Amino acid sequence: MASELKIGGISIKKGERKRIQLAVSNLYDGTDLSIPVEVIRGKEEGPILFISAAIHGDEINGTEIVCRILRDRSLKKLKGTFIAVPVVNVFGFNMLSRYLPDRRDLNRSFPGSKNGSLASRLANIFMKEIVQKSTHGIDLHTGAIHRTNLPQIRACMNNAETKQLAFEFGVPVIINSDIRDGSLREAARRKKIPMLLFEGGEALRFDEKVIQIGVHGCLAVMQSIGMLPRKKHATRREVFVSWSSQWVRSPASGLIRILKEAGAHVKEGELLAVVMDQFGKPRGEVLAPFEGIIIGQLKLPLVNGGDALFHIASFHNTRKVQKSITRIEEDIFQCFYD
Ligand SMILES: [Zn+2]
Repeated sequence: MASELKIGGISIKKGERKRIQLAVSNLYDGTDLSIPVEVIRGKEEGPILFISAAIHGDEINGTEIVCRILRDRSLKKLKGTFIAVPVVNVFGFNMLSRYLPDRRDLNRSFPGSKNGSLASRLANIFMKEIVQKSTHGIDLHTGAIHRTNLPQIRACMNNAETKQLAFEFGVPVIINSDIRDGSLREAARRKKIPMLLFEGGEALRFDEKVIQIGVHGCLAVMQSIGMLPRKKHATRREVFVSWSSQWVRSPASGLIRILKEAGAHVKEGELLAVVMDQFGKPRGEVLAPFEGIIIGQLKLPLVNGGDALFHIASFHNTRKVQKSITRIEEDIFQCFYD
């Protein structure tokens, strides 16, 4: 990698730590809008990793993950460069919205273009100034509004380098995920930059366990690619890959009594929820279509027939996956505040 690093026209020298505001646009009243970036460059050369959050503006859990990584003491020993982008979709973040003001989804607008829609322009700036200057990337997400996700990595497991990063992240559940058109992951793959997507928690909420698992995972990846010293007694976590998952939908409209939560091991035919009418009379049962782990679920107890309720992933050994999920929650729960 070249020894010169410039982001938004500002050069970051070896051993420097800088905050940069990447100019994006103006609000209606003329207020400047820019993406906040913090760059930490070690004295020694090494990988260049970006960690981004809130590409979906309401998925703020990842922002807190980035904030905590930035305060981790181990960064003093950093080799290479860490580019932290706590808020990518600055429009959505300020409006508590997933989207941009033009109702476009930024994660379907990559790689973007200079003269395209607002979403496309923002994607283009992020690609040119951050992604294309990096050797590795991690993008942080949560479930959409009123949905929560079990902490999980989504990655293309057919790519050897990406697969290695996914294993190093150390979260028990990895979902092999094909690339979506217009996503940041697809754009990074085209540039041959291995990238992980971490999912966990709910939009517009902080989830302490998910935050700690996310921080731990990102630091583990940084250790594995030689950016941070490896912890001496680091335990390698057992991780499991799911190659198929499916959403279970509501059979009727009404109120829903949820009986199983994200992380649960469910067997084929097991009762997951009951849909009731407005007087509490059962209108339909929601059953697990196959054995698996609930990796995402609706939190809002009001549903229409056809609404996606539970996201279930299947594994070769579901019991082992469930044990590993319980273990990570027990192990990782420690305070990162200082
Ligand atoms: Zn998202």
